[in-house]
Amino acid sequence: MEYMLYSTSTFVSVIQQVAIFTLFTSYEERHSLREIYLEFAMPQSLDTNRRVVLAERPNGLPNENTLRVEEGDIPQPGPGELLLRTVYLSLDPYMRGRMDDAKSYAEPVKIGEVMTGQVVAEVVSSNLNAFEPGDYVLSGSGWQDYALSNGKEVMNLGKEPQNPSWSLGIMGMPGYTAYAGLLKIGEPQPGETVVVAAASGPVGATVGQIAKIKNCKVIGIAGGADKCAHVVNNLGFDACIDHKADDFAEQLKAACPDGIDVYFENVGGKVLYTILPLLNAFARVPVCGVVSWYNLTGLPEGSDFGPAIMGTILRMKVKVQGFIIFDSFPKSTYKEFVQDMTQWLAKGEVQYKEQVVEGLENAPAALNDLLVGKSFGKVVVKVG
Ligand code: NDP
Repeated sequence: MEYMLYSTSTFVSVIQQVAIFTLFTSYEERHSLREIYLEFAMPQSLDTNRRVVLAERPNGLPNENTLRVEEGDIPQPGPGELLLRTVYLSLDPYMRGRMDDAKSYAEPVKIGEVMTGQVVAEVVSSNLNAFEPGDYVLSGSGWQDYALSNGKEVMNLGKEPQNPSWSLGIMGMPGYTAYAGLLKIGEPQPGETVVVAAASGPVGATVGQIAKIKNCKVIGIAGGADKCAHVVNNLGFDACIDHKADDFAEQLKAACPDGIDVYFENVGGKVLYTILPLLNAFARVPVCGVVSWYNLTGLPEGSDFGPAIMGTILRMKVKVQGFIIFDSFPKSTYKEFVQDMTQWLAKGEVQYKEQVVEGLENAPAALNDLLVGKSFGKVVVKVG
């Protein structure tokens, strides 16, 4: 199939573009990615497939040359295939890693290939018995309007599911990551102090709320007053410290007078170094992610913190265990998660915040926002 690179802005009327640009110029920071992709702004259509492909590997934060929007025909399903129309696309920090040609737990996206990503999609047509037109599914179709699938590793969510986008967040990969990482590796005990950063995001928000359900003292760390207020007032954490505050280390120490028993590692960097001296003997550290380092182009300048990290692990007998949610836990853990989380949501014991970005063309800028902390809550893209 031939895909054409969008070269003009003929898809949006001049008036629409002016309106959109005026909207965005009022933002404190209007970065070039958003300006460029707005030129491609057009809604999902019935006869064209837009695909966002990896154009070149980024050096640092992705820029306007990293991703390219292409358009082409909608593919036709053959025997044993489904045609899927993307409704919601999930944006997640791991996507930055897939842009690099580096050895990891998953294959990198190849140059010219559609960016990887989980979506909630609607079945348009089906040549498989297990799926009917109108069914919603969870699939790995990536950043595009339409995709073919052989039905493998596709979860049928049924017709008109409640909150379909939640399958990309609280009831999906991020929610399960928080649940399994905290309960199976962190093993929080009642009365213990649990600390988690990126506390207003989908993983951190869920970690903290589950830790509260398990009767722990929970301290969140987040960037800025609005996020911290949400974490305490809406999510019920005991406190939330702004990592951008000048006296961050002092505030964190004061909030953890009994030290830290579980540190759920989401961010690395300065936050990790501030946590280390506060870890108690036999602390547990589920190592889930280090998002503050995902755009590094080399080792950070300054001191080598390796000795401090390893020294703390040794002296304090800290259990550190990395995990990747796809293959680190038995299937029974996923069943427990679905059962528990469904109940917690129904009873209002867990709150869930989503940020819905309108339009596939805005996904590249939204991913950068997520990587640097400008997103708030679980980010999904409403594609169609
Ligand atoms: P979020 O939506 O919370 O986005 C990342 C957040 O990290 C930002 O919003 C920002 O929040 C924070 N952040 C970014 N840069 C910094 C920095 N320099 N210092 C401190 N905080 C920073 O992400 P998710 O909830 O989706 O994911 C959280 C972590 O979990 C990530 O590291 C991700 O890669 C990892 N993960 C790992 C999985 C696994 O299987 N191991 C599976 C799923 C996720 P703020 O503004 O509050 O600082």
